[in-house]
Amino acid sequence: KSGFIGIIGRPNVGKSTLMNQLVGQKIAITSPVAQTTRNRLRGILTTPEAQLIFVDTPGIHKPHHQLGEVLVKNAKIAIESVDVVLFVVDGSTICGTGDRYIAELLTRSETPVILGVNKIDQQPKDSQIIDDSYTELAQSYKWQTGKFSAKTATGLPELQDLLIEHL
Ligand code: GDP
Ligand code: MG
Repeated sequence: KSGFIGIIGRPNVGKSTLMNQLVGQKIAITSPVAQTTRNRLRGILTTPEAQLIFVDTPGIHKPHHQLGEVLVKNAKIAIESVDVVLFVVDGSTICGTGDRYIAELLTRSETPVILGVNKIDQQPKDSQIIDDSYTELAQSYKWQTGKFSAKTATGLPELQDLLIEHL
């Protein structure tokens, strides 16, 4: 099995960190500053069962200026040109309007989507409201969900299996 996986999500949710962890190399540029990743970067993960080619994308947000529009346009192209979309969200905060904007964008394409709830290492003690917000999102679009920390690598083997299942 082999295929392309597009890593999509708001700026700063940890898309580049995730790709670097999965691929085991510092390819994507990670930064606390939003929009470091202006061009799509690729990383390849080879396992005994599959070859996964990850496409890191710039963060999607509602365009407020021309650069934003270009980024959204590129993200749309990325969605159409991959086999699976990994929609990454920030699990340390509640699901927001930025996430819902992307969710709507994703439903306009036929590409299968997996919801990736990242930063679980940073969840506050009472994270029930946060968990519920993403469970509700996943249920309304019938998406399968992976929960993980790109920083500590917790949950990444399970995420890999889930992605391979969808290829
Ligand atoms: P991107 O804009 O979605 O590509 O996000 P980056 O990968 O550049 O990460 C944005 C910030 O979030 C950086 O400061 C990362 O170190 C941090 N980050 C990414 N993943 C995690 C995670 O799993 N846990 C925590 N605590 N921080 C993370
Ligand atoms: Mg990035």
